[in-house]
Order: sequence, then structure tokens, then C-alpha cells
Amino acid sequence: MTGTAPSVTQQHQEIPETVIRLRATFDTGVTRPAAWRLRQLRGLRSLLTNHTRSIEKALYDDLRKGRTESHLTEIGGVLAEVDHALRYLKRWMKPQRVAVPLNLKPATARIHTEPLGVCLIIAPWNYPLTLTLNPLVGALAAGNAAVVKPSELAPATSALLAGLLPRYTEAVAVVEGAVEETTLLLEQRFDHIFYTGNGTVGRIVAAAAARNLTPTTLELGGKSPAFIDETADMATTARRLAWGKFTNAGQTCVAPDYVLVTPSARNSLLSALPGTIREMFGPDPRTSSDYGRIINDRHFQRLSGLMAEGDLLAGGVSDVEERYIAPTVLIDVPHSAAVMTEEIFGPILPILTVRDVDEAIDFINARDKPLSLYAFTRDKAARRALADRTSSGGLVYNAPMIHLGVPNLPFGGVGESGMGAYHGRTSFDTFSHRKPVLSKPTRPDTLRLIYAPHTSRSFAFIAKAVARTHPLLGAPHRSPRDRTTGQ
Ligand code: NAD
Repeated sequence: MTGTAPSVTQQHQEIPETVIRLRATFDTGVTRPAAWRLRQLRGLRSLLTNHTRSIEKALYDDLRKGRTESHLTEIGGVLAEVDHALRYLKRWMKPQRVAVPLNLKPATARIHTEPLGVCLIIAPWNYPLTLTLNPLVGALAAGNAAVVKPSELAPATSALLAGLLPRYTEAVAVVEGAVEETTLLLEQRFDHIFYTGNGTVGRIVAAAAARNLTPTTLELGGKSPAFIDETADMATTARRLAWGKFTNAGQTCVAPDYVLVTPSARNSLLSALPGTIREMFGPDPRTSSDYGRIINDRHFQRLSGLMAEGDLLAGGVSDVEERYIAPTVLIDVPHSAAVMTEEIFGPILPILTVRDVDEAIDFINARDKPLSLYAFTRDKAARRALADRTSSGGLVYNAPMIHLGVPNLPFGGVGESGMGAYHGRTSFDTFSHRKPVLSKPTRPDTLRLIYAPHTSRSFAFIAKAVARTHPLLGAPHRSPRDRTTGQ
């Protein structure tokens, strides 16, 4: 189901048929062996390397992403995820042996990972390549078939993926479209739904999934704070902050949303930021090939409204024709301002002053749990306080966003910022069922003491075992039979 968009009537037929076809493929067992999985991952790799130019162009057309940024945050990120999975897949697939308590010996216990079936991946527009393909790496590595629904708000990347994915993978269908098509998709039964986007649609996805008890991963957003105190290296902090905020014109789920700065760090931060922005994007960021544009008019209007309150430290310039908003820094923003009550998701950085780390913690804890928390401080006590007394999807000291580049770190939100996680081994686990497999020989029959009829001897044994530990047979108690068999 690719290329030119079929009518809704066609979709009504095609979407259920697509899922049935993929399920039939999955049911043959063809997707399970390591060889099939590795072939899909190599296919994804070839897609990225054979069509680099077309991908760069699609990302430019959708978001005016610069070439370097496209490699750094999109193509390179997916290649790294593919290569990591290629390298470790066989290890991940190996059954994992676990210990058996003495009372159940002799027996062997292992955890097998098995694929879930047909997975649905619904992607957003802001990193339209990465956020479509990275979950797909996990789904295919785990041996699943998948339906992929790219975002209609990034039409060039969506069309490119619709054309290419079926050529490079064997059990992947792409459904292009918007609410109508996604609603149709959500009426089908999937074995896992992986959704990235906003919390309102996240709730729609979760409600639809609940009808079939389908497990979901919800990768959502929110306001990710950056705390800065006087112990921070301010020149580097300003550079990293500006990079994190203005990459992709601020349309990044893990961008620092706002800054909480202590009074003694405030002046040095405010004097460093404007110059740093100029160094990165020149005197007129509109002409910089490294500076993107806002995805559509609706978001442009929304962001323009968010600049109404607070004093301007930098930026503030915009152009509706190009959907350009300059890198903007606002200071002395009232806590109740609109820019502080919703996720900004654009190139506007409000800076608020807090007395100290304790006030910062209170401020953060009074709001939804963020997707990321950044702390620019060398103060060990402040770091520990932030780690111990706040909750967020991730916590990074002294840099924004780079935790996404560590495949062994699970990436995901908590509370309003999402549920579930992925990247690296965590993706493999997300798209797998970890099946306990226990095997117990029939001889000797060491379970005899738990069968009826129960005697006073078996009661004494079981009562003792239960008193020591639960569940029933988990006690590290050696029965006379264990002793005689030496088990
Ligand atoms: P979006 O508008 O592209 O929507 C995401 C997907 O949901 C699209 O495929 C879209 O077709 C589908 N959709 C939209 N409305 C729907 C409906 N009514 N029913 C069913 N499906 C529907 O993207 P967005 O939501 O604007 O993305 C931005 C949000 O996503 C931000 O909040 C951001 O923080 C978050 N985000 C999170 C991550 C993460 O990894 N946690 C990454 C990127 C973006």
C-alpha cells in the first residue's frame, strides 16, 4: 500500500487486507530465524546508504533540514541503531538461563524471546526518518512483521519511505495518510502499537489498543527543563543549550524547553547566549543553511502567540511566508505565561530565575514528569538532589539530547511524557515477549510432597517452606529427597 494515496473506500478494504496478509506471513514462521532478521536489518542499511541524497532532499523539503543536521540526527542515528542491532542480534536472541530454587530442582529455567506478531508503528513529523525507522529496527530485529504509518505532516519523507521500504524489507507495509487512515489502522488488531507524538493522540491510541488488549509504547513529549547554576562552565553551557534548543528549529521532543537559572549564574548566561546564537547561525539566521523552518502554518501561529510575554533577549523576528522564527530567548517570563504552560516545540527559550536547586526541584515537581531533565552544574549535592528528588524520562548532566546516542540507554518517558522505552537491546525487548521456559524431569519426582493426600509430614514441610518464602516452593529448603539425590 504505497505511492499515490488511495481513496478512503479503497483504504477501508486495503488496510484490513494488509494486516491479514502480514499476519499470514508472520504465521508461516518465516520472520523468526536470525537469518531473516539480519537480512531485514541489512536491507534497512542499504535503503539508507543507496538513497542518501533522496533522504536529504525529503528532509529539506519537509523541514528545511541542513545536510549535516540530517546526517547527525536522522540518517546517522538510524544507521547506528541498525549497526548496533546487526552486531548484537544473535546475542540478544540467545535464551537466557536463570537459577532455579533448590526446592524445584532438578530443573532448568530459561527466558526465550519470541516475536509478538504484527506491529503498528505510528510516527510523527519532526524527525520523520528516525522516528519511523528506529522503532522499525527493533520490530524487525525481534522478528515481527510491521505496518508503518509515517506522518502526513512530513509528506516528502512519508512518500519516500512508502516507495522504498517495501523494496528493501520483506514483511513491512507502509500506510500513508492522516487521521482517517490512522483511525482505520487502529480498528485492526495488532500485537504491539508503537506511537510517537503528542499526548492527546497518545490517549486515542491507548484507548483503541485497549479494545484488543494490545500492548503499547507511547513516546510522548512535554516540557524538558534545564537547570543551570553558578558552578556551570558557562561558555560551553550556552553553546550546548543553543545547540539543543535551536536544532531542527526547536522541534525536538528532547529539546530543553525552558531554563531555570540561579541568580548568581543568570548574568553570565544572559551575556553568553546572544553571542553564541550569532556564532552558530550568523547575524541573520534566516540565511543560515543550518537553521530550519516551522513545519506548518498552524504551528507557526501557535509559536508566534507564545512570544507575547516576557522580555526579549535575542531573536523575536519571524516571517510568515517562510514560516521562519528566529532563535528567540525570553527572560523574566511570568510562570503563568502561555509559553510556560504548554510544550513549546519551537525555537523559543524562556529563562526563569530560581533561588536555588531546591526551588528548581519544587518547580519541576509541580508540573508533569518531563521527557528529559538537564542539569548544568558541577555541584555534586545539586546533581544528587535532582537525581533523587525528581522524576523524568532521562537525566543528563551538562549536555542536552546526547543520551539518544547511547544505544544501551533505554529511551522513553514517564507519566505524561510516555510509557515504555526503546533503543538498542531495549527495542528488541519491547518488540519481543520474554517467555519463561521451565523444564523439569519426571524422575525423581521431587514434587511428591505437594500432592494430596496431605500428611502431617507434608504439612510441616510446606508450612515451613511458606513461612520462609513465597511462592510456595521458593524456600531454600533441602528436602530429605534432595539430600539423597545430591540435588
Ligand atoms: P503528528 O501530528 O505527526 O502526529 C503523530 C502521528 O499521529 C501521525 O502519524 C498522525 O497521523 C497521527 N495522528 C494525528 N492525529 C491523530 C488522530 N486523531 N487519531 C489517530 N492518529 C492521529 O506529530 P505530533 O503529535 O505533532 O508530534 C509532536 C509531539 O510528539 C510533541 O509533543 C513531541 O514532544 C512528541 N514527540 C515525542 C518523541 C519521543 O521520542 N518521545 C519524539 C518526537 C516527538
